[in-house]
Amino acid sequence: MSRTTVATIHLGALRHNLARLKQLAAPARVMAVVKADAYGHGLERVARALDGEAEAFAVAALGDGLRLRAAGHRQRIVVLSGPDNAHDIAEMQRLQLEATIHHEAQLQWLVQAAPTRGRLRVWLKIDSGMHRLGFAPERVAAVHAQLQAMAGIDPEIGLLTHFSDSEVFDGEQTPAQIARFTEATGLFVGPRSLSNSAAVLGWPAARGDWVRSGGLLYGLSVVDGRSGADFGFRPAMTLSTQLIAINRIGKGERIGYNGTWTCPEDMPVGVAAVGYGDGYPRSAAAGTPVLIGEQRVPLIGRVSMDLITLDLRTAPAAKIGDRVVLWGAGLPVETIAAQAGTISYDLTCGMTRRVLFVEDES
Ligand SMILES: *Cc1c(COP(=O)(O)O)cnc(C)c1O
Repeated sequence: MSRTTVATIHLGALRHNLARLKQLAAPARVMAVVKADAYGHGLERVARALDGEAEAFAVAALGDGLRLRAAGHRQRIVVLSGPDNAHDIAEMQRLQLEATIHHEAQLQWLVQAAPTRGRLRVWLKIDSGMHRLGFAPERVAAVHAQLQAMAGIDPEIGLLTHFSDSEVFDGEQTPAQIARFTEATGLFVGPRSLSNSAAVLGWPAARGDWVRSGGLLYGLSVVDGRSGADFGFRPAMTLSTQLIAINRIGKGERIGYNGTWTCPEDMPVGVAAVGYGDGYPRSAAAGTPVLIGEQRVPLIGRVSMDLITLDLRTAPAAKIGDRVVLWGAGLPVETIAAQAGTISYDLTCGMTRRVLFVEDES
């Protein structure tokens, strides 16, 4: 294996995770959320792996829908935040992408674009309390009527909302959002979609007709202190590199930039070829584990652009050339994210261009 940092994408894990999601979400159907280059796993790669099983994809923007159609995918594709202008509407029709309508400005564009070729499928987005995208509940009836009156729009209008706190399983925000959504949409027919990954786990009352799941598809959890594996999901990414140096450093010597860590005794210090230039978080604290074989080894000192330093006292057999796993099976990315003050999604989305992506069937 080369010195390069390698992100191995496990196609079998992706398929397992989609099957597990379907099982948990049933009878609701699953939209596989593949925005942000499939949370950093590679849009085309993930879509190809799931093609036979995914009923629908969800993307953030039109460009990703275009990439999926160009790759030959025929599933339903929901654009979660578009259209972004009147021109997008014709493009969405051409590509048979489904539009999320969340703002008055988009209603104007719909009127301007007056879709006629076939019927544009739309999802009406309701702001039930996240206060990011969506119509206020009191506007929903009027907007729904306006959409229904437009000739180029499929009369079966989807109803969609998004939760701000669904990973807090005993919180009050999600029940309040469910109640607001239910009240605002009660009179309408049409498919409902409320849940993201965490809501699939924690809020069965919000299942609706379609769940929109990204994180769990990749085996990623945002539930505090729990990894995807704790819920029966498998990590779809292993990030690994190589041990390129082992040095004996004396007691009292400082390690790395600014000497943030001092050796308590004479000890072996390993150097692995990964850093924030690859997307490994600079904020990872001393003590953040890596895996060498089966052994967890703590990071010491600052993460630099190309390198990290490791306390090898617990891995005396480690040798130059050994694989070092930064996250993956046996070392949940959630653990690294917690050490770095962020969430797992942020880490997998952050792989840089010098990381070599490979796939395997596991
Ligand atoms: C990203 C996103 C999702 C998926 O969230 P996960 O936590 O990854 O499952 C669902 N719906 C919307 C609107 C989103 O932006």
